[in-house]
Amino acid sequence: MPLSPPQDSLIDDLVLANKILHRYGIVDGYGHVSARLDSNAGNFLLSRSKAPALIERTDIRVHDFSGAMHGDGAPYLERFIHSEIYKARPDVHSIVHSHSQGSIIFGVTGRRLRPIYHMSGFLGSGSPIFDIGDVMGDSDLLVSSPELGGALATTLAGQSCALMRGHGMTVVGASIQEAVFRAVYTEKNAQMQLQAGRDGDIKYLSPGEAELTAALMARSIDRTWQLWVKEAEHDRHGS
Ligand code: MN
Repeated sequence: MPLSPPQDSLIDDLVLANKILHRYGIVDGYGHVSARLDSNAGNFLLSRSKAPALIERTDIRVHDFSGAMHGDGAPYLERFIHSEIYKARPDVHSIVHSHSQGSIIFGVTGRRLRPIYHMSGFLGSGSPIFDIGDVMGDSDLLVSSPELGGALATTLAGQSCALMRGHGMTVVGASIQEAVFRAVYTEKNAQMQLQAGRDGDIKYLSPGEAELTAALMARSIDRTWQLWVKEAEHDRHGS
């Protein structure tokens, strides 16, 4: 399916998002990031199955909301995370799925991942935990069907991050930039919450503070994005 010029920048940003998420340890050989295609309702962009840091423009494929991938190559098994959340959340324009360390730890202890500083106010009152065992008993833990993707979307509800027990997390945003920002700061928050918790009781952001700081940071995401792009390009070209 040919992509028109306005979507070219979306593809560029998606490729950069993969490299940034790898650079910040959110993804490794696994994990993925997608972007909704506004100009083509019911479709989104996601790479064919490949390690994020190795993804180039030619790897990006159009997927539809049934989870079908258009074009050659093998699709990610967990593409239904993306298709089902886009269906359920019209406000979401980008989704990151990762197996980051902090998300795993909070997903298995049952302790709520809550915002401990102003950069992660988007975590609100705390991240819900999707337990795939509640949906289908023993499994390989992958969200590899529309039904499982739908169950994850139900757990996520209106929030920005859902932890996935024994697996990782899925983070959403209104743009690629916002989804990447939230994924990076969710992991930072998790690591700091773990460290702070060892020293005593944590005073978390109040719900009001979480809301106000989330609104504030949402307005300056581009500043961080520009820095991260520069770093990613430097890694690539050494200039
Ligand atoms: Mn996964």
